[in-house]
Amino acid sequence: MAKRDYYEVLGVSKDASVADIKSAYRKLAVKDHPDKNPGDREAEERFKEASEAYEVLSDKEKRAQYDRFGHRGLENTFGRDGFQWSDFSHAGDFEDLFGDLFGSFFGGGRRSRRGPASPPAGRDLKIAVELTLEEIAAGVEKKINLNRLERCSACDGSGAARGSSKQTCSTCGGMGQVQQVSRSFFGQSVTVTACPACNGEGSTVTDPCPECRGDGRTRAKTTLTVRIPAGVRSGNYIPLRGQGEAGPRGGPAGDCLVFIEEKAHEQFTRDGNDVIYRLPINFSQAALGDDVKVPTLNGKARMKIPAGTQSGRVFRLRAKGIPDVDGRGVGDELVQVMVWTPQELSSRERELLEELGELDKKRADREGKGFLEKMREAFSS
Ligand SMILES: [Zn+2]
Ligand SMILES: [Zn+2]
Repeated sequence: MAKRDYYEVLGVSKDASVADIKSAYRKLAVKDHPDKNPGDREAEERFKEASEAYEVLSDKEKRAQYDRFGHRGLENTFGRDGFQWSDFSHAGDFEDLFGDLFGSFFGGGRRSRRGPASPPAGRDLKIAVELTLEEIAAGVEKKINLNRLERCSACDGSGAARGSSKQTCSTCGGMGQVQQVSRSFFGQSVTVTACPACNGEGSTVTDPCPECRGDGRTRAKTTLTVRIPAGVRSGNYIPLRGQGEAGPRGGPAGDCLVFIEEKAHEQFTRDGNDVIYRLPINFSQAALGDDVKVPTLNGKARMKIPAGTQSGRVFRLRAKGIPDVDGRGVGDELVQVMVWTPQELSSRERELLEELGELDKKRADREGKGFLEKMREAFSS
């Protein structure tokens, strides 16, 4: 089944604000939530569809990716099986979104306010790859060499030396939070803050792993393969989820963002999905017509130059350009012919041109003022 447009799913416009998107999602989710529609598979599917749309449109990066590439832009985000509940990053926001309306549909995804915090996530990595127009036209697989922080294999990322383990934090007793009770005129008030001893994680490393000194990460070289679809352009990027740096002490890995940089081409100029090629021809080819071969992004193509072709005229070679990144057709190659004027002449060439010049002069005299107009018109048509 073809996926519906995310904006359509939420019933919002393309330029909807984050607040509009949140409010539209809240309305749909309240209507279709499984707690309110027990056993109704269709409502559950609608709820999941709306949650997927919300996951994408509420995130600036994912939304930009979707706006540019459509659903294909998120292939690397959600993987081959598409959106799963585990991809939903707002499970913890449910209280914020709906108050006490629902129980914990997400089976523990809804984070208790008292639990310890997870270790922080690793940094995103940004990598640039240079592509030729030929690679962009065909789509390409590229290998990327990274030198990144990876999960330490000696301690499996925990940061604790082999044979030891993380210790429950004695300051907060593993809760990750400490309470401060204060009395005031209004009575007793309780403030809850992240435990300063364990950064809110609930545990500490007392016997650090010698390989990573307790960080849970070591630096390593690795090679990734990234598939780049045809039709990309400079500034586009492919997110590789979880391929950034590992988080400290077993925290989730960041992403690797592969930015596209288009190399300038010696022969072609890109214009959207079209490419422009300038073909020099000589005067006799322009006047008499000719069959020529022109280079394309994947080889050569034959092209007919009709007799009487003016300099500057553009011929369109259909579908010889760059495929649209969203799969909407293929661009063209635009061949602009430029009549070349010789700068050195043999005596024979000079003779012939002088003779031709005489004939041109006679024609101009014969046709009078109208001749110049006729020449002008030939360029404007
Ligand atoms: Zn280690
Ligand atoms: Zn603590």
